[in-house]
Amino acid sequence: MLNADLHCHSTCSDGTLAPAAVAALASRQGVELWALTDHDTVDGLAEAAAAAQRLGMGYLTGVEVSVSFAGETVHIVGLGFDADDAALRAGLASTRGGRQARALAMAAGLAEVGIHGAFEGALPYVGNPGLISRSHLARWLVASGVCADMPAVFRRYLVEGKPGYVPHRWAGLGDAVRWITQAGGQAVIAHPGRYKFSASAEYALFSEFAAHGGRGVEVQTGSHGPGAAAKYATMAREFKLLASRGSDFHDPAESRTAFGSLPDLAGDLTPVWEALAERVVQP
Ligand code: AMP
Ligand code: MN
Ligand code: MN
Ligand code: MN
Repeated sequence: MLNADLHCHSTCSDGTLAPAAVAALASRQGVELWALTDHDTVDGLAEAAAAAQRLGMGYLTGVEVSVSFAGETVHIVGLGFDADDAALRAGLASTRGGRQARALAMAAGLAEVGIHGAFEGALPYVGNPGLISRSHLARWLVASGVCADMPAVFRRYLVEGKPGYVPHRWAGLGDAVRWITQAGGQAVIAHPGRYKFSASAEYALFSEFAAHGGRGVEVQTGSHGPGAAAKYATMAREFKLLASRGSDFHDPAESRTAFGSLPDLAGDLTPVWEALAERVVQP
């Protein structure tokens, strides 16, 4: 099967390598079809496309949109869209709009438990001023010795109920799916195994996603073990969704999964890239 890796991040959101460096790493690790999917921005895509061309890698445009659904944050990956589409760009701009105020509020929450200067501390880690995220605060909290590693920071400080967590209203599910599909792309539910939904809320997510025109789901992702991959392969069959594969790479030291090293998709699933054949830029 084609070695496709269609989920990763650069310094344009919360990754630590520039788009061209992410492309070089993906290519070195055997990826044949690649998409950069930064959170809520397409800023890195011109550099990503040029790098993929230079490296001889197939390329799709990509983005990972933050969505609020049933009281949880859900991520929707868009692939193969027109990156100049005005409605998509406006939607992404509105989605990332509140990030600065949210980061200040998160830092205020941390200050209340004696951790001072988190906002200023995180700034040197931020590659894109419009896109400060929990990851940037987390990297500062690790670097300043508050926690040993990123998972510990999230567990103790940055998830619901913890001092640095601030609930945020992201895009609507239908809006995100429409921005992507009306720009000629395919919308994909990112890492479904990560959400803390009840079975009925998860069913509602898949049903509403499909009703809005969403067509795909990540089956093989760095967030899924074999059990979750099998479960979401079954969900893909049940909801007649295309299947995707992506490492969710952010940083060489933080990532559990190397580029292009996830298991292949089960043979009876239809890979999302087959439905996007006309949108793939061949090197
Ligand atoms: P935000 O969009 O600001 O809410 O930040 C979410 C990002 O934080 C995700 O895209 C991940 O990169 C990172 N993240 C979320 N949960 C964890 C975790 N438990 N461990 C490490 N990174 C995480
Ligand atoms: Mn991230
Ligand atoms: Mn995600
Ligand atoms: Mn991601």
